Amino acid sequence: MQTFESKIINIKEIAENTISIETEKPTDFIFEAGQFLQFIIPTEEQEVLRSYSIASSPQEHTFLFCIKLVKDGISSEYLRNLKKGDILKMKGSFGRFTEEENKNSLFFVSTGTGLAPTISIIKDQLKNKENKNKIHLLLGFRSENNIFWREELENLEKEYKNFTYMLTLSQPSENWNQLQGRVTLYFNHPSSSYKYFMCGNQGMVSEIRQILLENGIDNSQIHFEIF
Ligand SMILES: Cc1cc2nc3c(=O)[nH]c(=O)nc-3n(C[C@H](O)[C@H](O)[C@H](O)COP(=O)(O)OP(=O)(O)OC[C@H]3O[C@@H](n4cnc5c(N)ncnc54)[C@H](O)[C@@H]3O)c2cc1C
Repeated sequence: MQTFESKIINIKEIAENTISIETEKPTDFIFEAGQFLQFIIPTEEQEVLRSYSIASSPQEHTFLFCIKLVKDGISSEYLRNLKKGDILKMKGSFGRFTEEENKNSLFFVSTGTGLAPTISIIKDQLKNKENKNKIHLLLGFRSENNIFWREELENLEKEYKNFTYMLTLSQPSENWNQLQGRVTLYFNHPSSSYKYFMCGNQGMVSEIRQILLENGIDNSQIHFEIF
């Protein structure tokens, strides 16, 4: 597996405890939308590996990541202190949370940074693979402070008539007057004409998967990645 060094072009806070990191991509690096890389994180004792999904699509010239910084996490504490121009060591790509074809209707359910591989696949399907079938995203964050990349999703929705998305907050402030509650609340009557992709925490993925199976959706139509 290819190990390489990648220079940080941009690093910024995009939501509460969440940063995006854009890095250079080695020339001719090939990956599939939805895959992840492993960051090689130096520590005093040894190097440790942590997986991060690529949020850019394969045709973009840089890698984009979104990373939730968890308290006292080894990688989180390391990444928190990086700046533009620093070098990240990585290897990959890995993962089978991908969609190679362009002829399926796709339904995505994501929470938090689970948006990373999801938006990579959506951009790849709409822009590169020119999928004209329905593509829908049901997206959940905890509160207003946790929302990121909404403008990008709105732009995709404007540009591509076959793409729609719904955003819900599980713990919004009292000023929030849009959808609220967990994503599972809005996931009803799944249709066998879609392929389903879930990415986020274990609880959400298990619940959506159970709803799908109870409604007779075949396992082969269900894809998921748990962070
Ligand atoms: C396929 C895949 C893709 C992923 N993609 C992404 C992504 O795109 N974005 C993203 O943000 N994350 C992603 N993740 C999660 C990511 O790999 C890391 O798990 C995450 O960033 C936490 O790593 P860390 O080193 O900061 O925390 P760790 O050091 O692994 O710690 C995790 C948590 O456990 C706690 N902890 C650690 N040690 C102890 C201990 N001894 N006792 C009690 N508590 C402890 C820490 O305080 C922390 O809260 C992905 C994971 C997978 C498997």
